[in-house]
Amino acid sequence: MKMWVNGAWVDSSSNKFIEVLNPATEEMLDEVPRGTEEDTHQAITAAKAAFLEWRRTPGSERAAALHQTAAKIREHHDELVELLTKEEGKPVPENDEELWWTEETFDYYAELARHERGTLIPPGEPGQFNFVLKEPWGVVACIVPWNYPLLLLVWKLAPALAAGNTVIIKPSKLTPLTTLRLVEAACDHLPPGVVNVVTGYGPDVGETLVTHPDVRMVAFTGSSKVGQHIAALAAPMMKKIHLELGGKDPMVIAPDVEIDVAVSGLAYAALINTGQVCTSTERVYVHESLFPQFSEQLTDFVSKLRLGNGLDEGTDIGPMIRNSFREAVESQIADAVSAGAKVLTGGDRPVEFEHGFFLRPAVLVDVDHSMRIMREETFGPVIPLMPYRDFDEAIQLANDSEYGLGASLMTYDAKLVKRFFEEVLAGTIWINDPLTDNFAGPFGGMKMSGIGRELGQEGYDEFCQVKHVHWDIEGGMKEYWYPY
Ligand code: NAD
Repeated sequence: MKMWVNGAWVDSSSNKFIEVLNPATEEMLDEVPRGTEEDTHQAITAAKAAFLEWRRTPGSERAAALHQTAAKIREHHDELVELLTKEEGKPVPENDEELWWTEETFDYYAELARHERGTLIPPGEPGQFNFVLKEPWGVVACIVPWNYPLLLLVWKLAPALAAGNTVIIKPSKLTPLTTLRLVEAACDHLPPGVVNVVTGYGPDVGETLVTHPDVRMVAFTGSSKVGQHIAALAAPMMKKIHLELGGKDPMVIAPDVEIDVAVSGLAYAALINTGQVCTSTERVYVHESLFPQFSEQLTDFVSKLRLGNGLDEGTDIGPMIRNSFREAVESQIADAVSAGAKVLTGGDRPVEFEHGFFLRPAVLVDVDHSMRIMREETFGPVIPLMPYRDFDEAIQLANDSEYGLGASLMTYDAKLVKRFFEEVLAGTIWINDPLTDNFAGPFGGMKMSGIGRELGQEGYDEFCQVKHVHWDIEGGMKEYWYPY
C-alpha cells in the first residue's frame, strides 16, 4: 500500500518498505512505505494549507462530513473486521466491536461538532461583551499504537476534525493496513490535506511530527516510556500534548461476589485481546475467605479457553502481536516463579500451532508487590492473584502502583463501592462490568498513565484551545488608564 498525503496515494522518498505480518500465521500480509522526514514535512505542509479552509468550514458541514465517514466505514465493516483480525490477531467478535466503536465515535463527535463554538460569559461592565471561543489548535499529530489501531485512532481523529483541526496520522508499523484502508474507504470526501497518513518508524516519522513547529498538538497513545520521551521533545515548543499511556490495572474481588460471575468477568478483563489492552486487569486482589475456591474456579475456566486464529469461529484468544512481546511476558512469569510464584495454568507456548505468536493464558498465585509481574505493565495473558484481609488493605494494594489508568471492583456492597471510587487513584472505575467504555464518559489516566482525556465532552475540548474575547462596545476613555 502507499501513504495518503494531500488527498493522494504517494510513495516514500526512502524507496524502502516495512513488512506487515499476520501474527497468527507469521505470513506477510502486505508492505507499507518506510516514511522519512521529507515525507513527513510534505504531509505537514499539506495539513497546514488545508487548515485555513477547514477551520472556517461551518460546524454543521464538518458534522455532515463526519457522519458520512461513519456511514462509509459501515459499508466496509466486514472487510475492515477481516483485515483487522489478520493484522492485529484478536478474534472477530472483538474486532467487530472495535469497528462498531469506530463508526459510532464519528457519529458522536459529528453531533458535538454541530453546536460547539464556545460560551458567552457575563461582562464586567454594562456595554461590554465577553465570550470564550473554542478554536482548533491547527495541525494535530495522531500517533497510535497497534493494539486497537482504529478505535484509538478515531478517539483522536474524530474530535480533532470536529473541532476544525487537520490531522497527520502515524499508525504503528505493526498495524498500518487497516488505517490506510479506513482512510481510503471513508475519508476521500474530505478536502485534500485534512487527513494524511504517513507510515514508518517512531524515531523517523513520529519524532519529526513531535518536533516540527507547525504541528501544534501531539495526541499520542502508547507506552509510558515513549510518552515521556515525546513530552520532553515537545516541551521546548510549548506544544499541547495529550498522552494516553500504560497501565497496571487492579481488580478487587469482594467477599460477597458470586464466584462464577466474578471469574468470568475477571477472565474477560484480563484476557480480552490476549491481555494486550492498556486497561487489562493485571493485578487481582481476592478476599482471603474466597481465595482457595476462587483460584481453583478461575484456573479451571482459563484452562478451557480456546486459542486460535482470530478468523476461526470459536476462538476465544488469539496470538500475541509479535514474538518479542511474548518473550517479554514470559520473562515476567519466569522472574515471578524464580521469586516463589506458582503457575496454576498456562504461561507456556501451545505445541499444537506450528506458527503464530501464541501464549497460553496463565494464572499465578504466591505473588507479591516485590515482583515485576505486580509492578510493571505486562501487556499479555497473565492473571496474578493475591489474597487480602480487609478492604483497607485492598485499597492500599490497588493504589500501590506508579500507574493509574483503570480499576475494577466486583461487589454488590454499596459502602465498598463508595470507598473504592473515592479512594482509588485511577481515571476510570468499573464496578461489576470491567472495561466497558461510554462515548460520553472521559477515558484516560492518572499518575504515569497519562495526561488528558479521550471521549466525551472532555475528549473534544482537548482538541480546542480557548480564547477569551473582551469587547467594550461603547469604547471611549477609561478612568483607570494613565495618568493615575
Ligand atoms: P509504543 O509506545 O511502542 O508505540 C506507540 C506509537 O508511538 C507507535 O506508532 C510508534 O511508532 C510511535 N513511536 C515510537 N517511538 C517514537 C518516538 N521516539 N517518537 C514518536 N513516536 C514514536 O507502544 P505500542 O507497543 O505500540 O503500544 C502498547 C502500549 O500502548 C502499551 O504500553 C499500552 O498500555 C499503551 N496503550 C495505552 C492506551 C491508553 O489509552 N492509555 C491504549 C492502548 C495502548
